[in-house]
Amino acid sequence: MALSTFFPAFTTLATLVIGVMWFLYDRRDRRICDRQRFRHAYRCIKCGRIYERRGQREVATCPDCGFANDRLRF
Ligand SMILES: [Zn+2]
Repeated sequence: MALSTFFPAFTTLATLVIGVMWFLYDRRDRRICDRQRFRHAYRCIKCGRIYERRGQREVATCPDCGFANDRLRF
């Protein structure tokens, strides 16, 4: 195979492989991020326990004492 044929073919193949890997890893990271985005941390002001809940709610009850707490904001 001549160098003038090999080099463009190799460059195209390498670009294609990197593009496919970029797409797959980006999709995987987005899926992981979506899962973590709807997880919120809460700190009980009554007993001091820190816990987390899934979903988009602002208030969650403490698993220990049952007190309703607002989610933590960072
Ligand atoms: Zn509590």
